[in-house]
Amino acid sequence: SLKGKAALITGSTSGIGLAYAKTLAGAGAHIMLNGFGDRDAIAKIQREIEGLSGARTDYSDADLTNPAAIEAMIGQAKSSLGGVDILINNAGMQHVAPVDEFPIDKWNAIIALNLSAAFHAIRLAVPHMKEKKWGRIISTASAHSLVASPNKSAYVAAKHGIAGLTKTVALEVATHGITVNCISPGYVWTQLVEDQIPDTMKSRGLTREQVMNDVLLAAQPTKQFVTPEQVASLALYLCSDDAAAITGANLSMDGGWTAQ
Ligand code: NAD
Repeated sequence: SLKGKAALITGSTSGIGLAYAKTLAGAGAHIMLNGFGDRDAIAKIQREIEGLSGARTDYSDADLTNPAAIEAMIGQAKSSLGGVDILINNAGMQHVAPVDEFPIDKWNAIIALNLSAAFHAIRLAVPHMKEKKWGRIISTASAHSLVASPNKSAYVAAKHGIAGLTKTVALEVATHGITVNCISPGYVWTQLVEDQIPDTMKSRGLTREQVMNDVLLAAQPTKQFVTPEQVASLALYLCSDDAAAITGANLSMDGGWTAQ
């Protein structure tokens, strides 16, 4: 049980982050949500999560490309939930373009959100974890932390960076009861993926099924999307005492993608 623990999950207003929030709240953890979205919808998510186990929730609208906003978010978690015992770095974005046409502002934003934000949240959360002699740091990396695809230079560089940051911090805090790991999903069924389907159908003249199987799932041998709930279930396991010896790991959940 995660009763009494406080979890900060970045990018948890939708997709994989929202699944982490529900799963950890179901196990009793207090939850600090973060991400963009309609305020009424987010308030509704908070009420739903609070109903799962009676856990408390809070919400930060911090834009994680801004280090000062990350510092304020960690401060807010301290005052409303008593600190961050479990940190899940999950917020992320994508931009697809060849390297010689890659917009500089997109490169900077992706490195800031997908990589530097995790560095800032980790450096600000670790002191409390050391004090408590317990902590869990999990980052959503990607199959793209292990292999590349063309036209995703910023995303692939940032995700490889997350895997390196994970290993380094794991070594630094290994004797403090803190584990540091990343999870590397293949294609996960989220709104982000759903949104790519109509455009791809139109631009390539394909059916919905062809886009899903021949484009999106081309690299995924199971031909099944990973679900946000499956990813969240692995995170819950990493938070357990049974997983205390797993640290510095990059755990794949990609339907066989990176076995090829
Ligand atoms: P999503 O778009 O559903 O969720 C992204 C979340 O990040 C949202 O809550 C959004 O509001 C938030 N966010 C975006 N920009 C932000 C910013 N500047 N500051 C704070 N929050 C911000 O996407 P998802 O598919 O659930 O992705 C979550 C993570 O999983 C990302 O790191 C992504 O790279 C990774 N991932 C996704 C897949 C996939 O196939 N969907 C595969 C592997 C890894």
